[in-house]
Amino acid sequence: MSVPLIGLVAVGTIFVEGGPGTTEAFTEAERSAAQLAVFLAEQQLARMSVRFSPNTFLQCSFFNEFRSAVINPGFISPPTNTTTNPLLRQSEIDTREPQWRELAMEAIGFPAAAGAQRERYQDELLLKDWRVPQKPRHAIIIFVTKFPTGWMAYADPAERSTTVQFDWIGSAGVKFLSTGTFGYGLANLDRVLAHEIGHLFGGLDEYGPCRSFDTSGPRPTTNANCGGFEDCLMKHNSPVLCPATAEHLGWVDLDGDGAVDGGIAVVTHMSSHSGRGGDTVSIFGEGLGESRSVVFVGVGAAAFTIVADTRLDVVVPDGSGTDIDLFVTTPFGVTAPAVALRFSYI
Ligand SMILES: [Zn+2]
Repeated sequence: MSVPLIGLVAVGTIFVEGGPGTTEAFTEAERSAAQLAVFLAEQQLARMSVRFSPNTFLQCSFFNEFRSAVINPGFISPPTNTTTNPLLRQSEIDTREPQWRELAMEAIGFPAAAGAQRERYQDELLLKDWRVPQKPRHAIIIFVTKFPTGWMAYADPAERSTTVQFDWIGSAGVKFLSTGTFGYGLANLDRVLAHEIGHLFGGLDEYGPCRSFDTSGPRPTTNANCGGFEDCLMKHNSPVLCPATAEHLGWVDLDGDGAVDGGIAVVTHMSSHSGRGGDTVSIFGEGLGESRSVVFVGVGAAAFTIVADTRLDVVVPDGSGTDIDLFVTTPFGVTAPAVALRFSYI
């Protein structure tokens, strides 16, 4: 099941580079250009999400941090597959990327010995103080590097990371960043990144060896534009979206209530269902990171702190009564009444 591209996304972009003077070092100009491409890719996705939104709220927006990991992995053999053999491509990614990725994650504070390097960094991004009350719902990693890997740009949805080989040389000897056949050009790097981020949230390729019977998204929906004629983000990295991709990204309102289904916060449990005014109780669930209010029905609104997208700490307002319903409001709507969200004064 794919994760819908809804809500705040924390993006950690890591420049994985060699020391000064090496061919894997980035110039300031290259770094700035890549940073701009990340911002433009995010703007593109946010704009698309608004266009497909049944309500007027943003469906996705982004927090960013940029890190540089300067490493010396020694010789990594360049890939042999510079065309489109997908199986060979994957095996060349699997044998090359870890050689620089593990060192890079270590360089930014996540040693390989402790395991799950990317997941631990994503946990840090989810809990980071972004200088706003909100907390992101998702965290993803973008690697930008000149070290060898198996393809010019690809995504790993299971690990929520995507990689851009900044110096990719294609079979015709044409660089990824040059224009013309096999080249996208620096000016189109944002579109490539938007496409790859799309993969991390359920987007399916609609070109090459795509299969129209593959499905994705909450419904789930077939890959209807695979080999089709509709211009789309997942087809030619186009800055437009076809209906199939909108469904794959989870931008749907199946129950017709005017809100994107995947956006509504869900509460699974509370730390306590009873207490006094002034007590602090924790509410656990998903989609709580953008909460705007917590209301005890018939009593009033409560002060609260967003600890994580999965947790609010709520100060019980002064009041009385038993089996009082609570609800949480976010930009995407209001939580449904549930036994998990009830409180009794003692
Ligand atoms: Zn793709």
